[in-house]
Amino acid sequence: MTNPQHHEIVVIGAGICGATIANELLLRGKSVCVVDAASTPASACSSHAYAIAHPHIGKGSPRLLRLTRIAFLLAEARWGLAWRAHGIFQPSKKDKIFNRVEVAKHLIALDLDESIALPLSAEEAKQVCGIAQSGVWMPRAASLNLFETTHDLLQDQKRLTCIWNTRITHLENRNEKWILYDESQNEILSADKVVIAAAMETKPLMNSIGVRLPLKPVRGQLSIFSVGPQDPWASRLPRVGISGDGYCLPADCLEDGSYRWIVGSSFDEGEDDLAARESSDEFNREQAKGLVDYPEGNTEGLKKLGEFVGVRCVAGDRLPIIGALTQRPGIFLATALGSRGALWSALAAKLITAQVLDEDLALLARFGFAADLVAALAPARFFAGALAAPSALGAFASNSKPVFPSAPKTK
Ligand SMILES: Cc1cc2nc3c(=O)[nH]c(=O)nc-3n(C[C@H](O)[C@H](O)[C@H](O)COP(=O)(O)OP(=O)(O)OC[C@H]3O[C@@H](n4cnc5c(N)ncnc54)[C@H](O)[C@@H]3O)c2cc1C
Repeated sequence: MTNPQHHEIVVIGAGICGATIANELLLRGKSVCVVDAASTPASACSSHAYAIAHPHIGKGSPRLLRLTRIAFLLAEARWGLAWRAHGIFQPSKKDKIFNRVEVAKHLIALDLDESIALPLSAEEAKQVCGIAQSGVWMPRAASLNLFETTHDLLQDQKRLTCIWNTRITHLENRNEKWILYDESQNEILSADKVVIAAAMETKPLMNSIGVRLPLKPVRGQLSIFSVGPQDPWASRLPRVGISGDGYCLPADCLEDGSYRWIVGSSFDEGEDDLAARESSDEFNREQAKGLVDYPEGNTEGLKKLGEFVGVRCVAGDRLPIIGALTQRPGIFLATALGSRGALWSALAAKLITAQVLDEDLALLARFGFAADLVAALAPARFFAGALAAPSALGAFASNSKPVFPSAPKTK
């Protein structure tokens, strides 16, 4: 048997997450091998062309709120040129009376200045966003085409090796190296360090080295609607993104005067079926009414043009899993990005790169990472006792107790 091809660093998974991490490592002067089961980048969930990105400002664990702020700033710095900064409005809950002072205090407590998030009364929102609802306006929030971005990141370049059509089925540690096997049980690659960014399939890969991760699939369908120029909906379409119960992008006016409007998404827990469903489009039509506060809207005016169906990978505690698997030296995980692929992949690139390069994690403080945030993302949080070996995070890793922020119903 010939020796498997050896690389210092192998990344499994060429979605937005694996591609962003590989790109950061390349920028830092490393050579990287990316391996993927598909024949091209972004074939799975990252084939999504309409991903929104904004800091989380609603209910949630304090760590989730702090992390999404950091991730948003990192994503903005990273994707600034590629993303569409149309701004996103988050309407207040319908049962809440808008209190500007209270909302402003809340945003300050989240360390979000007015350039990132500011309260608007219904009148102001009508002027700024075209929606007569009170809420929070995030002018720098954006949407990103994950498909194009992933392809751009993995363009041919020096020091990048891409291996396509190769599903890794299991890993084995031998002589301080990791051996990666394909479906035919061939030793396909060996590596000093392996970054696993394979979304749901991280679970069986981890099982192969005796580690159980609480990952589950959440199917989602986004609808692409067409609205005729004379339809009553045309006057209700937003010119900014809206994020609330579901989300939508600004409507695009096409040459023939009709509008193209992206509205999502269903949130089908535990399901991984990629077939499009009429019921999901119906669900999105109902969400559309709520998003633009048009309860009397006739949903027949929202004609189906197309859809995107994907399967999100979500961890038990709804935070992503990003960090060194300290119980298995040389393995790094970046998975469970849930509905925040654009944000978490930018954050994963910084954190994983620092760990792969064995840098002092205190250096991450410049991005706002505190020890408790690094620990909140670490795979170690799921393991108590037996698996929890002394951690490279030192005191950071004492947090083995999962945090359970309230989960969003849709996105
Ligand atoms: C309906 C819907 C709406 C969403 N909306 C948003 C949004 O508005 N904003 C946002 O930021 N995010 C959104 N997301 C989430 C976002 O799309 C994902 O978080 C992101 O694409 C996940 O990227 P990933 O790289 O982790 O996984 P994936 O894109 O799934 O990539 C995993 C890669 O690993 C490869 N792979 C898997 N197993 C193996 C193996 N064993 N060997 C080799 N290769 C393997 C796969 O082929 C694939 O290329 C949404 C998702 C859905 C479904």
